[in-house]
Amino acid sequence: MNELHYQLDLLKAMNQKLTERERMYTKVCESAEGAFLYCSLEKKQLSALGQWREFFDFEVRETKDFSKILDVVEEQYVLSLREVLFLEKLGEESGSAECRLRGKKVWLQFRTQVYYDREHNPTDKVICIYNVTRLKSQNEELTFMAYYDGLTGLYNRNYFVRLLSEYVRNAGEKNSVVSVMIIDIDEFRKVNDGLGIIVGDELVQQFGLFLKEICEDNVIACHLHTDVFCVAIFEPSGNRNVDSIYKAILNRTKDAFHISSGQDIHITVSIGVAEYPQASRSALELINCAEIVVFKCKNQGKNMLQYFDTPVLTDFLDSIELENKLKKAVFNRDFYMCYQPQYYAGNRRLRGVEALIRWKDEDSRLISPATFIPVAEKNGSIITIGSWVVEESVKQYAAWRKQFGFPFIMSINISALQYKRGDFVDSLVEVLKRYQVSPSEIELEITESVLIDDFRAVSERLKVLRGYGIRISLDDFGTGFSSLSYLKKLPIDTLKIDKSFIDTVMTDSATRVITESIINMVKSLGFESIAEGVEEAQQYEYLHAIGCDVIQGYLFSKPLSPQEFETVLNGAV
Ligand code: C2E
Ligand code: MG
Ligand code: MG
Repeated sequence: MNELHYQLDLLKAMNQKLTERERMYTKVCESAEGAFLYCSLEKKQLSALGQWREFFDFEVRETKDFSKILDVVEEQYVLSLREVLFLEKLGEESGSAECRLRGKKVWLQFRTQVYYDREHNPTDKVICIYNVTRLKSQNEELTFMAYYDGLTGLYNRNYFVRLLSEYVRNAGEKNSVVSVMIIDIDEFRKVNDGLGIIVGDELVQQFGLFLKEICEDNVIACHLHTDVFCVAIFEPSGNRNVDSIYKAILNRTKDAFHISSGQDIHITVSIGVAEYPQASRSALELINCAEIVVFKCKNQGKNMLQYFDTPVLTDFLDSIELENKLKKAVFNRDFYMCYQPQYYAGNRRLRGVEALIRWKDEDSRLISPATFIPVAEKNGSIITIGSWVVEESVKQYAAWRKQFGFPFIMSINISALQYKRGDFVDSLVEVLKRYQVSPSEIELEITESVLIDDFRAVSERLKVLRGYGIRISLDDFGTGFSSLSYLKKLPIDTLKIDKSFIDTVMTDSATRVITESIINMVKSLGFESIAEGVEEAQQYEYLHAIGCDVIQGYLFSKPLSPQEFETVLNGAV
């Protein structure tokens, strides 16, 4: 009897232990993030554990019910998953698939493990199912970021360089060619500054999408940075060559890009082309060479395509050397001013002088301002140079005014960049006060490039300057967009007719017609006209006859040093 009691107690204790164990395993499975199927192959029993009910809305009671899982799997993954789920051989198999669970698309990962007994009969099988949707999308994002540019969907720079290196290597083996085009949107800064970076980004995005469309076999494109793209063509031929891609770009840019916020933007592009093996044998250098050509296009008026060749490289290296030399010159103040007199056409009396900067480099070579001013404008040093010119010219004028006792006009060239600075007017007025110079004796020469960006804002500022009594002169008239109609709206005092007109005025009747109509227009608007670059007596006589007010040019005087100009002033007293 006792023995029976003892056995019963033992069984109870074992049962309790088993229940506790089962409870423990169930809890562990439930707290895990997967859904599990345990299958006893010997007893033909199946248990669903863990998140099964969260994942699936069907029960699986016997092995053949596994195919119910396949019903939620996207078609293209069914075959490979079938093998995983119905695995019979010893060991582990896994796979993942896109599935529809309760109306949602998710990525599930499946892992099946089969166990055998000593006689090699399968005994148990466990199927673990995990939801890896988040991991998958993170992975996809990482892969995308590794190869593509987020804004345009084109290749990113790094991956593009890798692909281009492969092109170059293959072309080396096959003795063939790779063309690299750098495409740079002209005046992109104006879009960004004027319409905002969101519009700028959308423009870049649309242009990128367009480039993507024209990519095909052996043509790849990437977004290098900001508004710059690169296209590479392996073994250019037929429709896959620089010309056809250029044509496609010209065709697309004939029409505006429609921005979602309503703007229509017309663009032009500058394109530099470098080819393997002629320009270089390395992918990165090919890109650099094509970039150098774009730089040149930008200086030559944009909206064009040019090929890389040796003179381009020489020019580029010269411009870098010039830029370095200029930086030093700005630091050492290696500049001086000279002054070119201007005379009234009627009585040939002195009207004033134009202050012109001079730079003597370390080897005492004179470098023309026509060469270095554009470089200074590009690298920003024009701000320092320009303030120095203003201070030097005003100081010189104050000294002459005091020494000779009569007024004339000191005309100072102002670059667009200088003029656009918010503090330009204040600092000019401060210099005039400091040297006690009357604003009406100072004239600022601006070019049409100042007006291109924002006509209204520039006109407003001109009005402020004229409010102080400072004179404004429009320089190099006839070389820019020169529309006579906008002259009416401009608050200016003087208009300088560019030397290019004067050069041909005696030989070309069309130039004479234009020059006469400019002078008539200027007269009717009440401005003063100055002819620049008058070298011949005949030119002077003609200009005088058609009513030009003032003459400046070598015929009367070259630009003079301050000492030389003092003899002119002595004669004028
Ligand atoms: P610009 O303002 O149109 O100045 C007139 C240029 O024509 C000067 O050249 C002058 O020397 C030249 N010139 C005048 N008369 C004749 C002539 O009869 N024949 C010929 N062949 N040339 C004549 P320069 O001094 O070489 O200056 C070139 C340009 O550089 C200037 O053109 C102006 O745009 C710029 N520049 C000169 N000095 C300054 C400056 O201080 N600041 C700024 N921002 N630009 C300057
Ligand atoms: Mg000038
Ligand atoms: Mg000029």
